[in-house]
Amino acid sequence: MAIEDLPLRDDLRGQTPYGAPQFDVSVRLNTNENPYAPSSAVATSIVARVNTAAAGLNRYPDRDAHELRAALASYVAGRTGTQVAHEQVWPANGSNEVLQQILQAFGGPGRRAIGFEPSYSMHRLICRGTGTDYLPLDRGADFAVTAERISAAVDEHDPDIVFLCTPNNPTGTTVPLDVVEAAHRATAGVVVVDEAYAEFSASPSAVTLLPGRERLIVVRTLSKALELAGARIGYAVANASVVDALQLVRLPYHLSSITQAVGMAALEHADELLKWVEVLKVQRDRMATALDELGYEVFPSEANFVFFGGLGDQTVLWRSLLDASVLIRDVGVPGHLRVTAGTPDETDAFIDAIRAITKETAA
Ligand SMILES: *Cc1c(COP(=O)(O)O)cnc(C)c1O
Repeated sequence: MAIEDLPLRDDLRGQTPYGAPQFDVSVRLNTNENPYAPSSAVATSIVARVNTAAAGLNRYPDRDAHELRAALASYVAGRTGTQVAHEQVWPANGSNEVLQQILQAFGGPGRRAIGFEPSYSMHRLICRGTGTDYLPLDRGADFAVTAERISAAVDEHDPDIVFLCTPNNPTGTTVPLDVVEAAHRATAGVVVVDEAYAEFSASPSAVTLLPGRERLIVVRTLSKALELAGARIGYAVANASVVDALQLVRLPYHLSSITQAVGMAALEHADELLKWVEVLKVQRDRMATALDELGYEVFPSEANFVFFGGLGDQTVLWRSLLDASVLIRDVGVPGHLRVTAGTPDETDAFIDAIRAITKETAA
């Protein structure tokens, strides 16, 4: 039986699932992962914690993940300089699940979200999955979102949810805190600030805005800077009432004892996991400089990737790089591509390949 023959929801008919193309190439710079794996010391700590958790797997996990939330709260407080209580933190299986829970609680049928594109495509897809109406709006010049733009959009569309992403995937550009603040002031809905790349950014976190802003939700993850994409741990930081709301929709025991153990072990070693951030920022900036020198339009990035334009048909360059065994990302923005900062060797490979291709094309 084909999918068309199933009694599927009408709004899912003809849709395609999310997925970056996965190819077996030597240089994979397409999904913004950290190219560095947790060290063997960190892996050993993870195994020790998991070992203990394994002995208790006949029991359901701590439904409210108290210990992990306390560890995340102290990590976020340390990073942002803002006091965060464990009641203000809510972890799930990746920030994608956190986003889904936010939409289940504050979106859903009859409700509307707005986002400023290009941005993280999962915002739109999770809206679709939860039956939330999603309205894609343009970011405006240089992919910057201004307070005026957001206020006008809120006035016009009266959203229940406003998505902001900073540093923004795929552009790498940031949304200043005064813009986040203005968004919260303008809307009666919730403002979701996706900070998946916060640790790579020099800009202050929206967590610093939480005191007194009851409808602000900051979503973060261990998937990028903290090298744990495979562990599936993301979290919301918000005021405690928002966490109460998320608990209305979360599945009981959504976060396994194993996942909680991995998160605890990782956070004990946060400084060590974060030690590659500076190296990756240097590689990002090397890529940006090389792209600029080759005449591409480069957007200022505070994340672990670079977005660049001036390409005409971007699929041509994407394919040529793939032929050179360098996989980067076509996010579907005409004339633009995104490349993730890799190790110094991977970065060399990307720069060498794009130099050769660009010179060949110009010749
Ligand atoms: C990578 C990414 C995430 C991470 O999702 P996880 O489910 O935590 O792995 C979230 N938001 C944005 C904008 C991202 O780019």
